[in-house]
Amino acid sequence: MSLYDTFIQKVREIKNLQSVNSLLEWDQETMMPPKGIEYRAAQLALISGIVHEKLTSDELGELLDKLSSPSELDGLDELKRANIREIRREFEKAKKLPTELVKEIAETASLSQNAWVKARRESRFGDFSLWLTKMLKLKTQAARMIGYKEHIYDALLDDYEPGATVGKIKVILGDLKDGLVPLIREVLSSKVALDDSILHRDYDVSRQKEFGTKILQDMGFDFEAGRIDISAHPFCTSFAPGDVRLTTRYGANDPKMALFGMIHEAGHGLYEQGLAPEHHHTPMADSISLGIHESQSRLWENMIGRSRLFWQHYLPKARETFPKSLSGVGLDDFYRAINRVTPSFIRVEADELTYNIHILIRFEIETGLFEGVIQVDDLPKIWNRKVEEYLGIVPPNDREGVLQDIHWALGLFGYFPTYTLGNLYAAQFLRRAEKDISDFWGKVSGGQFSDLKNWLNTNIHRHGRLYSADDLVRRVTGETLNAKHFLGYLQNKFGELYRLSS
Ligand code: ZN
Repeated sequence: MSLYDTFIQKVREIKNLQSVNSLLEWDQETMMPPKGIEYRAAQLALISGIVHEKLTSDELGELLDKLSSPSELDGLDELKRANIREIRREFEKAKKLPTELVKEIAETASLSQNAWVKARRESRFGDFSLWLTKMLKLKTQAARMIGYKEHIYDALLDDYEPGATVGKIKVILGDLKDGLVPLIREVLSSKVALDDSILHRDYDVSRQKEFGTKILQDMGFDFEAGRIDISAHPFCTSFAPGDVRLTTRYGANDPKMALFGMIHEAGHGLYEQGLAPEHHHTPMADSISLGIHESQSRLWENMIGRSRLFWQHYLPKARETFPKSLSGVGLDDFYRAINRVTPSFIRVEADELTYNIHILIRFEIETGLFEGVIQVDDLPKIWNRKVEEYLGIVPPNDREGVLQDIHWALGLFGYFPTYTLGNLYAAQFLRRAEKDISDFWGKVSGGQFSDLKNWLNTNIHRHGRLYSADDLVRRVTGETLNAKHFLGYLQNKFGELYRLSS
């Protein structure tokens, strides 16, 4: 066996173990009975520990060193070299963290998630604050060990958006905020009021599932290589390109939640299914960053799924599926209902405009926590103040305020900005796809998505982690990441919906 093949065998062992962990996490969210939690925490911690030991082993280090010699590298193609580069990055980062700390973070995440579920149910931040303080301490310790040039938060961002820094994100989000805040103000003071009462009628849950599944099939999601289940917090996870799991949740008087949730997760799922199977369990069959991942879900969910032309095709089918609730509802009524802008407390239920404000708030709070200018005990107060400042409403309780998201319980600090970065990437990719694919919107209005799926497969998915997010967006769109296209998209769409004078 060649040196490179020995190396890949070791890499696959590690990545397969990580898949086992993902499976345990998927099970915890979808199937596991509540009393399994403590045992599951131990199982997750055990596997995380083994992964960490293998990833930091001298054996892997020696293989990386030998493979990095000029004579070895010369004989390897671009993809193989990229695999070596990416594993070296993971190896060096993992080397900086002691196994004990990695295990403690994994175990704390599992237990703290449990505490968060209860605290949220009771709407009592005080019951969760000790766990949050502990998690913050552990992640601060980890970030210091990993190291950073400018801001401690940069070390955390690196887990989700390699190459991103607080400095860069502040500029991009600042540009977005400058355009978004006045746009939201205009929309909210517009005389046009969009009515979404049709979306609060009765929608049979099993029919919702059937209807959503049909759309996912049309998008090209392969149900032979994936499935969809129910969880409290929808997500997509993958154990291999041939086994991709989506989850959703249903509301009998809120079809939007499951419908757009399913399209969103299937966007993620298409990315996972579109990774090159021959490179399975190596970086060349792994996603680049969460921002790029999120660009896939948001492109499908919002830019396609909430477009007028998409519903030109699907509304007649929705009327047949839900005759009592949708008979007589016209395309314009439906389009307006699904795009109604209204300030709300819950991020995951927010419209396309105000959603990004929710992210700005979290980004400001997280950087403040790690800079030490915000204390955990003050969080409910600070949270409510910011929501009032930006959205003009005050959360009535912690459940609808500071306790709404699972991320902090799991220690996922640095994750939130990737949602908005995803919107920006998506708008840039969409502009390009519209140019590359003939009659792009004509195809959308006919429910034909194979050209778009193939375009995403070829331009984004197939590359795995060959390019950085920055390089990919430049290669595909000819521009660096910026807020211009997303803002333009929002101004067009909501300017028309709310009849704003531009
Ligand atoms: Zn997502």
